[in-house]
Amino acid sequence: MLEALRQSGHYLRMAQLIDPFGRHVSYLRVSVTDRCDFRCVYCMAENMNFLPKADLLTLEELDRLCSAFIAQGVKKLRLTGGEPLVRKGIMTLVESLSRHLKTGALEELTLTTNGSQLVKYAKDLARHGVKRINVSIDTLDADKFKAITRWGELAKVLDGVKAAQDAGLAIKINAVALKGVNEFEIPAMLTWAHGQKMDLTLIETMPMGDIDGDRTDQYLPLSQLRAQLAEQFTLQDIPYKTGGPASYVRVAETGGRLGFITPLTHNFCESCNRVRITCTGTLYMCLGQNDAADLRAPLRASESDGLVTQAIMEAIGRKPKGHDFIIDRDHNRPAVARHMSVTGG
Ligand code: SAM
Ligand code: SF4
Repeated sequence: MLEALRQSGHYLRMAQLIDPFGRHVSYLRVSVTDRCDFRCVYCMAENMNFLPKADLLTLEELDRLCSAFIAQGVKKLRLTGGEPLVRKGIMTLVESLSRHLKTGALEELTLTTNGSQLVKYAKDLARHGVKRINVSIDTLDADKFKAITRWGELAKVLDGVKAAQDAGLAIKINAVALKGVNEFEIPAMLTWAHGQKMDLTLIETMPMGDIDGDRTDQYLPLSQLRAQLAEQFTLQDIPYKTGGPASYVRVAETGGRLGFITPLTHNFCESCNRVRITCTGTLYMCLGQNDAADLRAPLRASESDGLVTQAIMEAIGRKPKGHDFIIDRDHNRPAVARHMSVTGG
């Protein structure tokens, strides 16, 4: 089909969102709710003030907004949160967005989840064209899991992983590297994930939002962790890309892929192709900056998409070069006040 479009010349005229640095914005992450059934220590404080439900975009509005981005050339869409699978009626949104997969306008519809609801939803996700998902698991020790997530239950999440595998979904496990918490467990997690044909990606903690603890106590540079892993495993750099910011190695001993997301030790902004919208329709052009554009007002102001498309294009025209994350004793406060759960990981 692409070839036919190319030959007709139409392909070249398709809309694209290009930022001031020439980067093509083709990836939209959508936080469908800021709420969550866990309270991970690096992500949230135990007592959180969530957005009033009345401020949220409806599922129909979220669909319209995503569709406006797809019409502007977004090819990959990731639902996230908060916990996307706790948003009431979420499968209605997944189902309606899947029409863009059928037309080929959208190449991939995926989500990032804590896995707690996967037993319930894995089959439906697969049925609606979701092919792969990210599941966040920081440890395989049930007590540690409880300590990290405060409210989570490892067994339930592992049942969810099994259900997703049975439904035919490819899974990538995301683990935030936490100093002195899961630091020495990564080899075991790697062996477990690769043994089940799942990729594993490690993430550095980012200074977003006030949490109850001190981030300098949690922060583990992945350069250090990689060096530790290299003593035990043979890590071969590979050019594999999923559209996200991770860089990958192949682990010779397991044959599996290991990804590193290193916003602190190695800034990856030069190739950033992503923007994010919150569940209230605020567009953040960068995860680590405060500039944002309200898309809810133009969305609601007109039944046609002209106004909102114009607002999207103007905002992309201000996409900043990159973030300025730093974590050390001198910079022990969030780079941005909002929590990760607002803009989504
Ligand atoms: N609730 C879902 C989950 O946990 O997968 C989706 C949203 S969560 C905000 C997305 C990802 O962001 C998770 O992998 C989580 O571990 C990660 N995350 C949350 N807060 C973070 C922080 N301050 N620094 C780095 N990663 C963070
Ligand atoms: Fe919830 Fe995900 Fe944040 Fe954990 S990381 S509190 S599961 S949104």
